[in-house]
Amino acid sequence: MYSYHNNIDGEFDIGIIGGGASGIFSSIVAKDESDLSVAVFESEDRILKKVLKTGNGKCNLTNKDLCLSNFYGNPLILKSVFSKCPQSLTLNIFKNLGIRVVFDENGKCFPASYQASSIVDGLRFGASKRGVKIYAETEIVKIEKKDEKFLLRADNRYNFLCSKVIFSTGGLAGLKKKEENFFRVLKDLNVNIIKPFPTLVQLRLVETDPFKSMEGCKWECGVILNVDGKNTLVENGEILFTNYGISGNAILNISREAVKNLNENKKVKILIDLLPEMTDVEIKDELTFRIKRFGDYDLEFLFNGWINKRIGVIFLKSLGFNMNDKINVLTEKDVEKIINNIHSFTFTVANHNGFLNAQVMAGGVSVDDVDFETLQHKRIKGLYFAGEILDIDGKSGGYNLQWAWSSGYVSAFYAVKSF
Ligand SMILES: Cc1cc2nc3c(=O)[nH]c(=O)nc-3n(C[C@H](O)[C@H](O)[C@H](O)COP(=O)(O)OP(=O)(O)OC[C@H]3O[C@@H](n4cnc5c(N)ncnc54)[C@H](O)[C@@H]3O)c2cc1C
Repeated sequence: MYSYHNNIDGEFDIGIIGGGASGIFSSIVAKDESDLSVAVFESEDRILKKVLKTGNGKCNLTNKDLCLSNFYGNPLILKSVFSKCPQSLTLNIFKNLGIRVVFDENGKCFPASYQASSIVDGLRFGASKRGVKIYAETEIVKIEKKDEKFLLRADNRYNFLCSKVIFSTGGLAGLKKKEENFFRVLKDLNVNIIKPFPTLVQLRLVETDPFKSMEGCKWECGVILNVDGKNTLVENGEILFTNYGISGNAILNISREAVKNLNENKKVKILIDLLPEMTDVEIKDELTFRIKRFGDYDLEFLFNGWINKRIGVIFLKSLGFNMNDKINVLTEKDVEKIINNIHSFTFTVANHNGFLNAQVMAGGVSVDDVDFETLQHKRIKGLYFAGEILDIDGKSGGYNLQWAWSSGYVSAFYAVKSF
């Protein structure tokens, strides 16, 4: 596909492939820990483009609760990496890059400016002030071993010779790229790849009318994932109905299991608990009060001021109630029917919104091939990994970036130490 020449256009101690969150963080750590020469090769015209989009432009860079249950992947590598670069060290490095942080009531951490661009600028200036050489529009398309070093070949026909390489190309999320092209460089090196799939992704629903009229409605609720008739996962949080299906934090957090099971051709449903905080007795009391107090009102008023109105109406319609009726038509049996279904308003998942709309890639480089202490490939000495390219991912809430920072730190620390 590419024609190569054999000139060397740059020689570096450490070459970092991918100028994203983990790669740029790595470059800063490598410079803080040594006076080695460090270069970053980035395929896009600018580094850190994805970080600019994180947290809806505010960058949720970590989370107060770093419990391992918020991550997917081998807990031993997670433990090892977080013990070497815990959150306190990460935030200290950011402090030295001029970033003050704040935590919101859910434990999510943001730059105090609430601007992702502050994180991008802190990292960008931090790297360039330390003398990291950045090559933008330089996609590495081939890695060859040359004696003890690595020859990196770029699509723009530049060649770079690097003693150590940190591979931090992120994942397929947000990209149009084909899987085989994305992983080609690694496949050529016989690196084991766990089949990737999108996670933190919106779900498409089978249901159309009248459910479509809930488009734009948000609701804090419980979400239960049901696979082949069994409830497998519960998440509490916000849902958002959209023109294609359903999104929101709670949905993003169950999307990993949903996508995995869809890929295995299982039947995936979502049960929405519209009132997770209320017991059946409390709901019955409230309904009984409303039937007495508002009996002559239209049925669409039943959940007014209690549940999002449009969601409440569609829920009642889904149970076969007629919105032209008055509230006092409801019998005791009807009240039972409402209570029996209010914790499991059910939707069938047809599909997901694909890598292009996903926030994160699950799968990637098998951690079995990687030394947990150093993040160095076990067979290919001198090749390190960081970030989402590894088969580790996290829930929504700052976990994926914390993994990028911490794994970026560890890979750089041990790459430097190996000289
Ligand atoms: C819309 C959106 C919002 C998000 N919000 C959050 C959030 O608020 N909090 C959170 O924790 N996580 C969030 N994430 C996830 C988070 O951004 C990623 O997990 C994180 O950026 C991964 O860091 P990384 O360094 O592994 O990859 P990236 O940051 O994706 O960087 C990889 C870089 O490598 C470059 N590259 C790829 N291949 C090559 C190659 N062959 N040669 C040269 N360069 C290459 C890419 O262009 C890219 O710049 C969000 C993701 C998206 C898409």
